[in-house]
Amino acid sequence: MRTLNHCFSFLLFFISFVNVQSLHAKAKRKDIGKLVFERSCFDVIHYDIEVKIKPIERFISGSNAIEFKMLEASSKIQLDYSKSMNLDSAEYLGKPIAFKRKGNIVLFDFPGGLLKNSSHNLLLYFSGKPLEAKLAPWDGGFVWRKDNNGYDWVGLACEGLGASAWLPCKDHWSDEAEGADITLIVPNDLTGVSNGKLIDEKIVDSAFKAFHWRVVNPINNYSISINVGRYVNIVDTFSGINKLPLSYYVLDYNQASAEKHFLQVHGMLEAFEYYFGQYPFKDDSYKLVETPYWGMEHQSCIAYGNNYNNNNYGFDFIIIHESGHEWFGNSITASDAADMWIHESFTTYSEALYMEYQVDKTRAIEYLSEQKKKIVSKYPMQGPRGVFYHGRTDSDIYYKGTWMLHTMRSILNNDSLWFACLKEMNSIYFHKIVNTEETVQFFNKKTRYNWDLFFKQYLYKKSIPELEIKQSILNNGNISYSIRLESDLKDLKLPLNIKLTNGEVIGIVVSDKPIVIELDSRFDLYAFIEANYLLRIERE
Ligand SMILES: [Zn+2]
Repeated sequence: MRTLNHCFSFLLFFISFVNVQSLHAKAKRKDIGKLVFERSCFDVIHYDIEVKIKPIERFISGSNAIEFKMLEASSKIQLDYSKSMNLDSAEYLGKPIAFKRKGNIVLFDFPGGLLKNSSHNLLLYFSGKPLEAKLAPWDGGFVWRKDNNGYDWVGLACEGLGASAWLPCKDHWSDEAEGADITLIVPNDLTGVSNGKLIDEKIVDSAFKAFHWRVVNPINNYSISINVGRYVNIVDTFSGINKLPLSYYVLDYNQASAEKHFLQVHGMLEAFEYYFGQYPFKDDSYKLVETPYWGMEHQSCIAYGNNYNNNNYGFDFIIIHESGHEWFGNSITASDAADMWIHESFTTYSEALYMEYQVDKTRAIEYLSEQKKKIVSKYPMQGPRGVFYHGRTDSDIYYKGTWMLHTMRSILNNDSLWFACLKEMNSIYFHKIVNTEETVQFFNKKTRYNWDLFFKQYLYKKSIPELEIKQSILNNGNISYSIRLESDLKDLKLPLNIKLTNGEVIGIVVSDKPIVIELDSRFDLYAFIEANYLLRIERE
């Protein structure tokens, strides 16, 4: 969840004074952006996290037992932890081990060295007052709130910030733990909800209770979720490709609203399984958890804070968008936040497909057309890698991204192939890490069409290609259009498939050389292009 339009006006003000490239370079935690050898030499297998949450003090303390495997031999490894938090101690093989802290980096030295393919456990104890979110989920951190009845209500959103803002871990998108155990110790009148399934619930002492959750699938760090509140649990089952347990944790006074409103989860899962294949985390269940902020795609524990509201299209944006991320973002994960368009473009496109499934393609295009108005096209969608890139200042990876995909579908003009691509992408990259280049290669191979220049233009250039159209009325009453493509790339050619009202399709390829076509004057070429392609039209 990183839709930025709500805080956009304030950002626009900000951007007008700050060079955006320097804003990007000043990513908050740049020191943990690079995948240096001390990080790439090992692979995290498992996190076993225990964290005590004290809402009154706004304080957390706990431990993380990290199981990891050496991919290369090394005597040093790097973990990451916010410099504003305390790393109280660390243990290796049951004994204390020293570490060095430098900014947000924590370095461990193993004098004997760690052999390639060997597995290890490091136990870290931490505590502190974690950063409070200024504007969750965008400007993230912990959210400490009271519910309407005065009970503490705590949430965490740290996609942009990184999980190392509160948890010592390897904070790089390229490495997901294969699973995690998360125990939340919370005041005993509240419930702690995290990812995966609830394994155990027990009383710790007269003031605290422990909730032990287990995730059995790969999980990205920022998805690891902390929710504490006066929750009730609603359970349901979805009978889709597999039988899937549904579980909703909502504030006790919202139970009736939630029971009714969350029925749309069934239609959402049906649509997404139809287009993308099976729900990717069936063994971890599907959960919605009511949060004191708008929403976030926490894997198998989606943060829901949209107050049970549907949009003008009759659906709850947070349920549909954040659940779309289970396929794009959580199952298929980008290796660096610079490639985050993979998460947001496909997920935003899933909203339009939800409309197409529930109503029809015309309605989906109406929905897309609303989003088209929000495209800024001032900065490329692809960001710089290795700098913990999260200084994004527009929403183009959402709206321009969804239009890039819609344009690909129009260029292909073969829906069965297009939908086979979306499904196959989800099966080839199921629970995997990908980058932009692999994604481009995937589409090249699967569609047998070379999309290199297309992606180069739409992802790496900020501007949208332009169609220069000159029209003249012919003696027979038809209109002649001379169409020329103006783009950043001289060699870019785009096939346009113009579907006439009688169903006939005229295929042309636009390039920097003008092409002339003749169409019936009753056909609105401009409206057709607007509805199907992301191209600016310059009428001459
Ligand atoms: Zn999103």
